[in-house]
Amino acid sequence: MTTMTPAASHLARTLLPMTPSAGRVYNFSAGPACMPESVLQQIRAELLDCRGSGIGLLELSHRGAIYEALNNEAEDACRRAANAPSDYAVFFMPGGATVQFGLLPLNFIPLDGSAAYIDTSIWSAKAASEAARCRTTTIAFDGKACGYTRVPRTGDCTIDAQSKYLFYCQNNTVEGTTFWEPPETNVPLIGDATSDIFSRPWSVEKHAMILAAGQKNLGASGASLIIAKKDFIASATAKLPQILRFEDHANAGSRLNTPPTFAVRVMGLMAEWTLAVGGPSALAAHNAIKANLLWNTIDGSGGFYSWGAEKWCRSHMNICFRSPDAARDAKFVTEAEAAGLFGLLGHRDAGGMRASIYNAFPAQGCEILAQFMGEFARRNG
Ligand code: PMP
Repeated sequence: MTTMTPAASHLARTLLPMTPSAGRVYNFSAGPACMPESVLQQIRAELLDCRGSGIGLLELSHRGAIYEALNNEAEDACRRAANAPSDYAVFFMPGGATVQFGLLPLNFIPLDGSAAYIDTSIWSAKAASEAARCRTTTIAFDGKACGYTRVPRTGDCTIDAQSKYLFYCQNNTVEGTTFWEPPETNVPLIGDATSDIFSRPWSVEKHAMILAAGQKNLGASGASLIIAKKDFIASATAKLPQILRFEDHANAGSRLNTPPTFAVRVMGLMAEWTLAVGGPSALAAHNAIKANLLWNTIDGSGGFYSWGAEKWCRSHMNICFRSPDAARDAKFVTEAEAAGLFGLLGHRDAGGMRASIYNAFPAQGCEILAQFMGEFARRNG
């Protein structure tokens, strides 16, 4: 069995001393995903009475002083957690990442223009195909050709210099691969950070925009965090309904219409929790310990477990693996559930298993899964 070194284990436990409380399980779901219990408890209290107002979180007017403070605090915490410079707007939008995929071409690609997409995953392919429904796109890197087993290396991308932007998916939730550095480009860069936001220090300045749907390291689905260079979102066409324009949402302080107030509050609490546990750099160390434990278990299984992702670009958020056949995959998932390890079924397009271990996922859960994997391989090898 692969175990953490005592020092690594101590770090993981002191940073996030969290095991699920009675009745809860280890939840490896890819999203919506496991959240810190301290945040869940705070939400529970606020649902009945927010800040001593006698009004619950879901009942607060979005134009009132309390919600205004919650919104501003959420924007501020996200700005600090992302380390976003002052020439960037930080704001919330209704809708998950797929909504933003649709808005990008409408905002930034003129009818006679085009944008480039790096295709490393089903999500970047989706972003590209949504854009291609209404505008011209080019594929700067075709990851399908290598079965999505890696992201591009420097020099692998062919980017049309006229592109209005270059889109990429920072962490590939389904394929278990990640960009350890943003791709190099001279055109405005847009990153989908849905499954890696706040999991590591990340250079906002290299991007024109970063978007992240809420359901993983930000906690609540149905809304997105947008971090965007102000002059980039100002360059969007004016010939759009306001509700579809990023800049209008930024200028309205995330309250252009009635916003998803609950999701925004949850995202704010998740950003504050991120900062309280030491921010993305502390979490990156914690996440590396958790992920390496599982990837090492796969590598040390004598070939029982495998996954195509190349080692140099393996994700620290989504650890994917399969056993020798589909029958044993199914058995693994069933027996894991009986052992209190839930949400391990792989994405329907990729098969196998997937352990999603976002920021709030406790290290102890990874140790228990690693042990379970070792025992399962011995019994079924
Ligand atoms: N991008 C990435 C990286 C994802 O993991 C997902 C799935 N959560 C999406 C986009 C799609 O997000 P949504 O369902 O919020 O549209």
